[in-house]
Amino acid sequence: MRWSRQLLPTLREAPLEAEIPSHQLLLRAGLARRLGAGLYTFLPAGLRALRKVEQIIREEMDRAGALEVLMPALQPTDLWARTGRLETLRDVMFHVRDRQERDLVLGPTHEEVITDLVAREINSWRQLPRTFYQIQTKFRDEIRPRFGLMRAKEFIMKDAYSFDADEAGADASYRAMYSAYERIFQRCGVRTKAVEADTGAMGGKSSHEFMVLAESGEDGLVECERCAYAANRERAESATAPRIEWPEDRAPAEIVATPGARTIEQVSQYLDVAPSRLVKTLIYLADSRPIAALVPGDRELNEIKLRRATGAEALTLADDATIERVTGAPVGFAGPIGLNVPIWADLWLRGGRGLIAGANRADAHVVHVDFERDVGELAFADLAFARGGDPCPRCSDGVLREQRGIEVGHVFRLGTKYSRALGAEFLDESGVRKPVIMGCYGIGVTRTLQAVIEQNRDEQGIRWPISVAPWSVEVVVVNLQNAACVETGERLYAELGAAGLDPLLDDRDARPGVKFNDADLLGLPFRVTVGERSLARGVVEIRRRAGGDVVELPPAEAVTWLVGQVRKGLEG
Ligand code: ATP
Ligand code: MG
Repeated sequence: MRWSRQLLPTLREAPLEAEIPSHQLLLRAGLARRLGAGLYTFLPAGLRALRKVEQIIREEMDRAGALEVLMPALQPTDLWARTGRLETLRDVMFHVRDRQERDLVLGPTHEEVITDLVAREINSWRQLPRTFYQIQTKFRDEIRPRFGLMRAKEFIMKDAYSFDADEAGADASYRAMYSAYERIFQRCGVRTKAVEADTGAMGGKSSHEFMVLAESGEDGLVECERCAYAANRERAESATAPRIEWPEDRAPAEIVATPGARTIEQVSQYLDVAPSRLVKTLIYLADSRPIAALVPGDRELNEIKLRRATGAEALTLADDATIERVTGAPVGFAGPIGLNVPIWADLWLRGGRGLIAGANRADAHVVHVDFERDVGELAFADLAFARGGDPCPRCSDGVLREQRGIEVGHVFRLGTKYSRALGAEFLDESGVRKPVIMGCYGIGVTRTLQAVIEQNRDEQGIRWPISVAPWSVEVVVVNLQNAACVETGERLYAELGAAGLDPLLDDRDARPGVKFNDADLLGLPFRVTVGERSLARGVVEIRRRAGGDVVELPPAEAVTWLVGQVRKGLEG
């Protein structure tokens, strides 16, 4: 490909809309352009890289035995009503109506469609197991589309679905996808970490997210410094018996005045005690019934954990009127002593002494609180977000550390939630009718592409891994006025093409500085510079974008050398 005939609009400055480095580079290197919030056009260079990511995914899915299908983005709304997800996914779904006034949605995911297909086409144990996948466009009305391709309203996903006759089979299918994912991300040139994750609106039993570790990641995760434990912060467990040294405070509980001090910060300042000595009391409505949830003042309550502990379907923070009714006090003075609603307390409060809690009375708190002595009936559960420095919940001596990551893939054990709802059943060997056991497996293809950039870059631009680079080699003809340079550049370009390396030839009539800057920005793995002076010495210069190392070779040897390097890079 000749730069002079390409649409490769590089930008010196990042547009204001671009917030994180990979988003800036996506635009600056001329890979994509924004159409509207969360909507992007892929320009030729970006599309080439995207196709390579897709191809890697396709190869690994095929290798794992998955069968490629292609399902429609437009789906009848009825189907979604049957699994209850018309409600749970209502906020993210785009709704449309056809000329016959039929309601349709633009698929945010495809569990319903594939399970409906399997319900119709598979009915015997002889047809199991099967795993299907597609690479297809998804639509989600995200509240905050941002970071370019990372969180878009329309994006490309690889979604796969496994169907098995029994648990052991479902486990094997899950593991096959898990290891395919490890190979996919490794081949794409990104380092990922698989972490335990919450199953969210997907439901099901357990799941792992594949995170690309990056400062700019939207997801927090914790991992143990000693053992293999790693989990999304939403999901991460706390050690069941955190080691806390409580003060030897045996004084009786006492109400003290705290005029105007409502927040943890205000109370801890007013009474001059650390926030960890305070009890944060939150009133929730669990399926419309008020409950109280307690966490230490310096910790955040994790609503996912509270929902799991209470078994509530719907959980919302109580409104001010409810709080005042339940506590008999204005908002900001709630505490567990004397509360007449079910109380759930975080594990970190177990055995707590010398604590401070709201007095359920305006402008007052209780000090010297001893949980066992002063608080009535309550249930302890893991409610707070885990954080860096906490003991590991799995091994005895490890400590958790926090990292940030970009979720590029997610694998779920779904069980029979969808097969039961949509009647995907089969007859087993003894003729008994059973629901198939499912798994589902997603990769954000467009998000992965940008994650590759996020993890492979420097001050000057992108440093594409060979496997997904739009082109593998750029040939820069430094001076178009020099006939020998032009002729050598053209010959190299033709020979590299003939050798199957898909080269890009910078044949623009531009200053060398501009061309070199653009070459670094676009970041193809190898740059061959054909300059007057080196050519006079009978060589061209080959620079590796990732390491910056340079070799000089006669033009005739350059092609063989590059073919060898690219092949090595693709294998390694
Ligand atoms: P997130 O928590 O980031 O919203 P999710 O849990 O909604 O992701 P899944 O439903 O599991 O995501 O979708 C599978 C994959 O699709 C994700 O791992 C992610 O890589 C990608 N993905 C999800 N939402 C988007 C989006 N709005 N834009 C681009 N990629 C997305
Ligand atoms: Mg989402």
